[in-house]
Amino acid sequence: MAHHQVIIIGSGPAGFTAALYTSRARLDVAVFEGIQPGGQLTITTEVENYPGFEHGIMGPEMMDVFRKQAHRFGAVSIYETIEKVDFTSRPFRMWSDRGTEYTADSVIISTGAQAKLLGSKGEQEYMGYGVSACATCDGFFFRNQEVYVVGGGDTAMEEANYLTRFASKVSIIHRREEFRASKIMLERCKNNPKIEFILNAEVDEYLGEIQPNGIKKLLKLRLKNTQNGDTWEVPADGCFVAIGHKPNTDIFRGIIDMDEQTGYIITKGKSTYTNIDGVFACGDAQDSVYRQAVTAAGSGCMAAIDAERWLEAQH
Ligand code: NAP
Repeated sequence: MAHHQVIIIGSGPAGFTAALYTSRARLDVAVFEGIQPGGQLTITTEVENYPGFEHGIMGPEMMDVFRKQAHRFGAVSIYETIEKVDFTSRPFRMWSDRGTEYTADSVIISTGAQAKLLGSKGEQEYMGYGVSACATCDGFFFRNQEVYVVGGGDTAMEEANYLTRFASKVSIIHRREEFRASKIMLERCKNNPKIEFILNAEVDEYLGEIQPNGIKKLLKLRLKNTQNGDTWEVPADGCFVAIGHKPNTDIFRGIIDMDEQTGYIITKGKSTYTNIDGVFACGDAQDSVYRQAVTAAGSGCMAAIDAERWLEAQH
């Protein structure tokens, strides 16, 4: 059984920023990297909107820098996934996928979220090469191109509207005729001359090729009519899947206060305090609104400062 002063669960920008600050404050810190070491940015290509990188940086490379910077001050990475926690007594207890038990004086939850995907054929293959789950991150790469947005909720409407700043045409693919989106957001899309709707349709397959430069590129979508099963192909430079996000908070259900429906962790006021003293939450696990690397990193810093001050007050 290993004990640490601070255990950080999750290794995205929030987790590693929390690790940087707590380890630099000379606390003994372990980061559980989880099933996707480095988090969501490791599945994106270029990041152009993280301040400090004038010419942009590749997502995986950026997370490697985050990790190295935290390690420099003594934080250690543990390449295991925490699967169970017991926060009823102190020290807090946690168990990893290897069955190992860990204890900590304080815990920072930074398990992030994941975009829901369709699971259609070719989706993983072209993710980052035409397929995206984030218009704010990748819209800029589609200037004067034709793109598609999948979904019928507010996220899809927001992403479609945003994409019209860059794309020549945006088509919203939705599997039925009724929308979950709020009236105002839907109207905004309907009134936007660059936006078209393809209703009663879903993406059956993403089709593309490897270009002469060796890089994959999405070229077409095979669509399927949800009512009669007919399929047809449309040319596509990009396709944004906007069917919602899911925070990675299942293991905290019934333990940490969260929005029962969405699973986003509830933090107190402007702090990163959860309902359990000594357990803090930051990043996308508690943010359904901004969901940016830079806002996650900012809240990771807040969690580190909250944890540090809380630990100080315990002695
Ligand atoms: P949502 O409201 O749950 O909508 C998800 C959409 O994706 C639905 O239209 C759903 O279709 C579709 N969908 C789900 N799974 C699908 C699949 N496998 N294949 C095809 N389509 C699929 O999610 P959201 O749009 O992310 O919004 C989540 C919450 O955040 C909402 O409360 C929303 O109001 C809020 N939000 C607010 C704003 C804003 O106010 N600025 C912006 C974004 C989000 P069905 O309708 O057929 O189920």
